[in-house]
Amino acid sequence: MNSNSEIVIEVSDLLRKGRIPPWKAESYIKDKYAIGSPDNILLAAKARRAYLEDISTQKFEYLKLREKPYLIDYSCDRCSLDLRLAAYDEYKYCPICGSKLTVSNPIEYYPLTANYIGGIEDYYSFCGRIEVKGDVEKTFNGILQYGTGLGPIGVTRGAYFINHYGGAVVKVMETARACRNLGYVFRKEETRRKSIGIIEAYLSEVRLRMNQLLSKWKGKVSFVEILPVEDMGKLYLFIDFTAEFKYFRGHGAISKAVGLAKKLIDEKLKIEGIPYELSAITQGYDGDLKPSPRNKRGRYVLVEVTIPMAEIEKITGKKVDKFIDFVSMDAKGTEKLGWFHHTGMGGEIVAGVYKAVKINPHSPLVTSTERIFSYPKGDNIVYGIELPNVEAGTISSDEGAITPLGREIIRVIGIRNSKEFSAYLGALVLAGEFNLSVEIVRENLYRVE
Ligand SMILES: [Zn+2]
Repeated sequence: MNSNSEIVIEVSDLLRKGRIPPWKAESYIKDKYAIGSPDNILLAAKARRAYLEDISTQKFEYLKLREKPYLIDYSCDRCSLDLRLAAYDEYKYCPICGSKLTVSNPIEYYPLTANYIGGIEDYYSFCGRIEVKGDVEKTFNGILQYGTGLGPIGVTRGAYFINHYGGAVVKVMETARACRNLGYVFRKEETRRKSIGIIEAYLSEVRLRMNQLLSKWKGKVSFVEILPVEDMGKLYLFIDFTAEFKYFRGHGAISKAVGLAKKLIDEKLKIEGIPYELSAITQGYDGDLKPSPRNKRGRYVLVEVTIPMAEIEKITGKKVDKFIDFVSMDAKGTEKLGWFHHTGMGGEIVAGVYKAVKINPHSPLVTSTERIFSYPKGDNIVYGIELPNVEAGTISSDEGAITPLGREIIRVIGIRNSKEFSAYLGALVLAGEFNLSVEIVRENLYRVE
């Protein structure tokens, strides 16, 4: 009889050799050692953790594992309502009528989430290793936080396909952009025109002062757009500042620097005797929380995989044209909603990654702007995704502190900087989207038996 620790070692070794997919660890332990639920659930989670610790050469210190990492079915007899709750959840009352819940009979146990590896307040999943090439050359150890629609199994399958066909080829911008907009309201066109001349002449000094402030975050103003805007008789002037950052997201940094620019330009206009109705840092034009194809924020990321047409036909069981038609049709549907870019699965994978690594922005709405595409190239199909605005800083600082758990997950994944984070994110989105496209085309999803 093997001890539990020997089983954990054996299963983690099988995972390392690729002999079993990570979501089969529970059933493998059950079938081979006759260890049923819930004990196999705990052992499978331990095996996946041991495997990740082995390949990353990191130890999980902050990602905790409960002794009862499973779900149980309960019901409220009064409401005829079924609930599935964590076994360690002590609040066992009906959320509707308040009655005490009863455990369903016979009792069944389920993992907290597929490919679970730990986490108490939030549930973490392994989602496969993914190989990237191009601007970043690395194999990342995929970790997601529970909550993606397709789930970690779909991403793991997609990662398997991508690795099998030579890896994901990534293009990632070297630096990330952050923007802030300074706006003025003028009463007369003449004063607005004069102010543009004064601001343009003063701009190099303003940029110098801003760069001194931004040097703390190794950032630099890269672009200033002066844009007169009219609406319903009002005369506005936008002065939009863009700065580039290598390590940080830069949002807080650019906000401070544009605060300085406002002070300097306000003073200058006053000295020059230029009256204005209002001077303010505006939120509308800087793209904060507004996903748009015109957004200047973050890093541009392009990730592609090239797959022989014959292989697409083999894995989908359909003619290759049907696969391309599906991708085009899906993108068209998004366009009909008035959304320039396609956001499918990606938006959920993006959130799952940000939640796992605990970095800013905690609401990664701008980053979720996504487009998927597919086109024939010789005897191959190129399948790809674009994320035009990946915002992230992976260094814990006054610009955005990262929890010890988040920092640990970053290390285990193998991310060293925000450029690598962007490549990892893009590759996981590609994996999830590709697997979803394949599953839909082969009519494996949403099928009623
Ligand atoms: Zn009830």
